[in-house]
Amino acid sequence: MTDWAAFAAELGDIPSITDRALVRQKSRDFFWYSPILKPLLNHKSADLVVCPRNEADVVATLALCARHRVPLTPRGAGTGNYGQAVPLEGGVVLEMTGMDRILALEDGLLTVEPGRRLIDIERAVAGQGWELRMYPSTKRTATIGGFVGGGSGGIGSVTYGGLRERGNIVGARVVSCEPEPRIRELRGDAVGRVNHAYGTTGIITALTLPLAPRLPWTDVVACFDDFMTAVNCGRMLALSDGIAKKLVTVVASPLPQYFRGMDVPAGKHVVIAMIAKHALVGWEDHLAQFGGTEILRRSTAEAEGNPEFTPVYEYTWNHTTLHALRADKSVTYLQSLFPADRALALVEETFHAYGEEVMIHLEFQRVAGAVTCSALQVVRFTTPERLNAIIADLRARGIMIANPHEYTLEDGAGHKRIGTEQPAFKREMDPLGLLNPGKMRSFVADQPPPASAS
Ligand SMILES: Cc1cc2nc3c(=O)[nH]c(=O)nc-3n(C[C@H](O)[C@H](O)[C@H](O)COP(=O)(O)OP(=O)(O)OC[C@H]3O[C@@H](n4cnc5c(N)ncnc54)[C@H](O)[C@@H]3O)c2cc1C
Repeated sequence: MTDWAAFAAELGDIPSITDRALVRQKSRDFFWYSPILKPLLNHKSADLVVCPRNEADVVATLALCARHRVPLTPRGAGTGNYGQAVPLEGGVVLEMTGMDRILALEDGLLTVEPGRRLIDIERAVAGQGWELRMYPSTKRTATIGGFVGGGSGGIGSVTYGGLRERGNIVGARVVSCEPEPRIRELRGDAVGRVNHAYGTTGIITALTLPLAPRLPWTDVVACFDDFMTAVNCGRMLALSDGIAKKLVTVVASPLPQYFRGMDVPAGKHVVIAMIAKHALVGWEDHLAQFGGTEILRRSTAEAEGNPEFTPVYEYTWNHTTLHALRADKSVTYLQSLFPADRALALVEETFHAYGEEVMIHLEFQRVAGAVTCSALQVVRFTTPERLNAIIADLRARGIMIANPHEYTLEDGAGHKRIGTEQPAFKREMDPLGLLNPGKMRSFVADQPPPASAS
């Protein structure tokens, strides 16, 4: 049993939170999207939240946790969808938002502390003509460390692919969880050991990422009567290398009816995109070719800066599900990746297979250079058995499902990434198995020596 008052005292001047309600609040993320995860994770809570101000605070906290055999779960903004930041075994939540300094920016290469919000990174680098290559639709709340630790890709992935594509993250500084923590500098492909590892393989204290040249983006939305015409318009836009874009999304009717603040006529399917201002002529020609009707055009910067507007990216990726959930608590979602060579045929097949039970929402993106689409389908949930039957059926058709109703790396949205690198690195960085325990199911800790009394 840990004496939490004594533990907090041993932290010295490192800030911590003991208020039960606040600790519980900071032990949660968006796992409640899943009716399967909700009952499993709803009651979980840390015992203490520690708020490091710098790397030395992280090292001191990890040393203390290792000495007392206390589990520790890092947290950014807590917007993960699969309970990534939920401390299954209690202990310490390490809230990283106090570590938010830009450490270097030179020739488009940014080094930043993990707790900085993505929107604040963009604001800081804009003056030098740069922007993030990609960000999740939670850009206005999520942190860079949480995105790398628990996310996959998003706005910008239509050009640069996902976070895991070689070159998108080029460096990470990581602290191990041991009585005497070590700091490892990862470079290049080795950063994959902490990308989408849910914090199980060490605490990231700095990240180095290449940026993209900054462009003035324009939000556009177009309506279509026919779903497959909208899909073809989206796919060809994604493939049109002459039209600079940051986002290409297709949302099938009736999902746009859930979009508050975007007046989409009933029965219409929509293409949502972010197009560079200088490419709008190309967009207009493209839209005319497919017979779509533009219903919204606004500068993305204006939408971000004015509380009366919502930037269109906040209707895409996993925000689409959020809009549906706000209106109808009975829906949930899936995450699918369509093989590039059969994507359109499979999209059409699954559009007809389930009707409105599985409402289609596609995100076009590059995967290893090829343009394909992923889907975050919104599902009218009935029973776990039916949900699993839909997942099995989609898999049987050849569609990859990253199951968002599982919280472990192996069974859930991390299963394609875990490979052999992350478990081996975990043994090196967390031999006692204290980092976010329960998330890497296959890891068995070494027999630990008895905890020291100090
Ligand atoms: C409405 C909505 C839309 C979303 N859209 C997208 C999207 O477009 N693309 C996408 O990829 N995801 C998306 N997500 C999921 C989530 O927002 C992103 O993954 C986001 O980047 C997480 O950032 P965060 O700061 O909230 O991280 P958290 O949820 O706090 O943490 C995520 C994971 O990273 C770990 N972690 C945090 N900091 C560190 C650190 N310093 N060292 C090691 N591990 C750490 C945590 O333990 C946790 O496992 C969405 C979620 C919601 C609710």
